Amino acid sequence: MQVGVKSIYAGPMADVHIHVMRRGPEHSPPGIDEILGVIRRSGIEFAVVMPTPNDGRWSTHEEGVRLRNELAEASRGIVAQFCGSNYLTYWMHRAYHEGYTGRGLDAILKRLADDMSCGKYAGVGEIGLYHFKKRPGQNIIMYPPSFEPFLEMVRLVVSQKMWLTLHAEPVDEDGRSYEKEIFGGLELMYRHNPDLKIILAHTGMTTARKARELLKKYPGMMMDVVMENEMGGSQERKCKNPVVAINADGERYDWEYQKAHSARKNLKKAVNSRGKLYEDWSQLFTEIPERFLVGTDARFGHPGWDVKIYFGLIRRVRRILGALDAKAAQLIAYENAQKIFKHP
Ligand SMILES: [Zn+2]
Repeated sequence: MQVGVKSIYAGPMADVHIHVMRRGPEHSPPGIDEILGVIRRSGIEFAVVMPTPNDGRWSTHEEGVRLRNELAEASRGIVAQFCGSNYLTYWMHRAYHEGYTGRGLDAILKRLADDMSCGKYAGVGEIGLYHFKKRPGQNIIMYPPSFEPFLEMVRLVVSQKMWLTLHAEPVDEDGRSYEKEIFGGLELMYRHNPDLKIILAHTGMTTARKARELLKKYPGMMMDVVMENEMGGSQERKCKNPVVAINADGERYDWEYQKAHSARKNLKKAVNSRGKLYEDWSQLFTEIPERFLVGTDARFGHPGWDVKIYFGLIRRVRRILGALDAKAAQLIAYENAQKIFKHP
């Protein structure tokens, strides 16, 4: 069962999960003014831009760093930045599978320490742990949170009291579960770093039940809520008459979506392919609204991602927030982000 839309949320908004990138010398990202214009016209009063977990694979990832810097500077306080994923995530993935030198690790941790103390960054992310193939051609990130260089990075982030946005998919495209690794890893991280501040990306891609359990267990955890698929919904719109059903295990599956995206079928979302909020998620948002943030996962500069897609993403978020009670909607839309980033 899904929750019907009562009204559209029309208040101020923050979006704490936006990617701005340059993917290869042959691709030109949109201009700073164009990106800022779209963000402003969507009614976003505060935005966080960051590299994707896979950014480090592209030779042009440092241009993404410059681009986000220019964007933040030109925005006069609207745009904040997270640092690190472009030189951390792919490094971790490679180090885990191919080995690494102490010098190599020191170099990335030194850069992270410098970035965190330079005053330009509000946090670190989007760090990927498990990032599987959800569409053709997507690159895989895979290493466990018990990997020592990752834990060293976490300790460093905690020492600077920074927020860490973490992307960890609990199931791969073949249905293999990584829940033990991820949830056990979070346990380990919090045991050693009780002050750790994590924003788990895309509501952890887990069930509402598991999300509630994690949030109750770890007071330093927030979750960002993605309301749309990462390529902006163009593929989802192709699904005619999606049907949402409950299987024998009480899990929800969207059958049309599953047929169209078999690789994604195992990941849990708060919203179905028609942009409707599932009832269990709606209950959780109402129960603990102070623990959720909006994170559209927009991809400015990604080849084929038109900046105008952003208007549709925000419209959809506003419709979904409109289905919640007004206080919960305000907190999730804006006030939580304001509290943790602007007036910590
Ligand atoms: Zn992302």
